[in-house]
Amino acid sequence: MKSSCGRFRKVQNRAMSTSTSRTSAQISYIKQMQVALAAFALLNLNGSLYKKDANIQDRDTFDYLVVGGGTAGAVVAARLVEANFSVLIIEAGGNPGVESHYPGFVTYVKNSRIDWNFTTEPDDFFGQCLKEGSGPSTGKAIGGSGNTNYMLYSRGNPRDYEKIYEITEDSTWKWENMLKYFLRSERLDDEEVLSSAFGEYHGSNGTIGVTKDNREICDEYLRAFEEVGEDVVVDNIGAGILGYSSGLYHIVDGHRTTSSESYLPPLNDNPNLYLTRHSTATKILFDDNNNAVLWSNINVLYPKSRGEIRLRSLDPEDQPIIETGYFSDDQDLEDVVDAVLDLIKIESTPFGQDNALEFLPVAEMCRGIEFGTREYWRCHLLCVTVATWRDAGTCAIGDVVDTHLFVIGVKRLRVVDASVFPNALGGAILAPTVALAEKAAEIIIADRKNHNMCGGKK
Ligand SMILES: Cc1cc2nc3c(=O)[nH]c(=O)nc-3n(C[C@H](O)[C@H](O)[C@H](O)COP(=O)(O)OP(=O)(O)OC[C@H]3O[C@@H](n4cnc5c(N)ncnc54)[C@H](O)[C@@H]3O)c2cc1C
Repeated sequence: MKSSCGRFRKVQNRAMSTSTSRTSAQISYIKQMQVALAAFALLNLNGSLYKKDANIQDRDTFDYLVVGGGTAGAVVAARLVEANFSVLIIEAGGNPGVESHYPGFVTYVKNSRIDWNFTTEPDDFFGQCLKEGSGPSTGKAIGGSGNTNYMLYSRGNPRDYEKIYEITEDSTWKWENMLKYFLRSERLDDEEVLSSAFGEYHGSNGTIGVTKDNREICDEYLRAFEEVGEDVVVDNIGAGILGYSSGLYHIVDGHRTTSSESYLPPLNDNPNLYLTRHSTATKILFDDNNNAVLWSNINVLYPKSRGEIRLRSLDPEDQPIIETGYFSDDQDLEDVVDAVLDLIKIESTPFGQDNALEFLPVAEMCRGIEFGTREYWRCHLLCVTVATWRDAGTCAIGDVVDTHLFVIGVKRLRVVDASVFPNALGGAILAPTVALAEKAAEIIIADRKNHNMCGGKK
């Protein structure tokens, strides 16, 4: 995959702006909006979307406890309930609100009531000019980060799944065997893609709605890329081919689609589904002194930089220590400079000229460096780049969990979320996380039949 028009911003006689170079006035406005949205949430307008909180008593038992009703948790819980198991979802956050329902409100989600508001440790690399807004965003509400993300639908590249197979030596993780989970969970509404040669790689009857960005401005951008000799394709997701294309999004009829709002409401009348909001699991009887590795993905698809996430203390209320490590490997910086130089070529196309597209020097820190040179872009990137938060690998398959997603050596405990992907995927990871959860539910149900309740070796 290369990119979609949603990634680019038209610049007309003003500085290239990023979400990070916000002025104090903009930040203050965002905070005011967040206060207004939090007040609005008190009306609990979507309170009936999900089940009411279950009245849990000591000694209540359930077939499965799912910690976190986020992207993966909602899928696993739903599939287990459909298979007649009783499931309690323990979710730290509450209901999502309008700020996640309407895609245009995405700016107001970060550092809000539905965000864990984690911060990253400062380092000498990434985000040197960012005083506010450089920290990660992680959803804290039913639906998890599906409520706070940028809604891009992607799957990574088939070769990414080959790497999982190489690590696990389990062919069920190969791309051709994972495809059915993507088809099962995707409900794409786009005739052009579905009737194309790539249609067979997409689902049109699955659970989560997906649409293609069909704005005219996208077509214009794509034409500009064609003019500078790039390949434009109908779809770069299904078959994993390279080329520019309009993006697919987790958006339907103007509203965001999440796994929770797609999988859980149809089960609201099912007595086997239990849900508790504002409930944080603080202890799992599981010893692990390992510092897991945070695999990071910046703008390039396969970064070499690695970060770390560690416990700050044994107090579950304390934020973890997050060191992103972004750009700590020089090659990543050079790769992103290449990507920028590739992108700015469209400035000189007829489309760029007609729209007065102009990239301007905005990074104060880089004054004195000749604009447009590699050195300038290196400086600019270190100054203002933000991450797209496709973190994975903290509970990697083959390291922390086995191929059945059991924590290795621990009975009756599995991890099913984005953290189990052992390598960075070449794209956004919500859809792969949903596919993973679909697969996990199948594994759990089959293991139950076979009385397999314990993680063994890798
Ligand atoms: C800003 C941002 C932009 C992104 N953009 C995209 C994009 O455009 N496209 C894409 O595909 N992906 C994107 N992603 C990534 C994608 O959204 C996530 O990788 C995916 O949602 C992760 O799913 P998950 O199930 O692992 O975790 P989550 O969806 O985050 O779910 C975890 C849930 O567990 C709950 N929880 C955590 N700890 C506890 C506890 N102790 N007790 C109870 N509950 C707990 C949380 O509150 C949360 O609801 C983005 C992510 C972010 C943050």
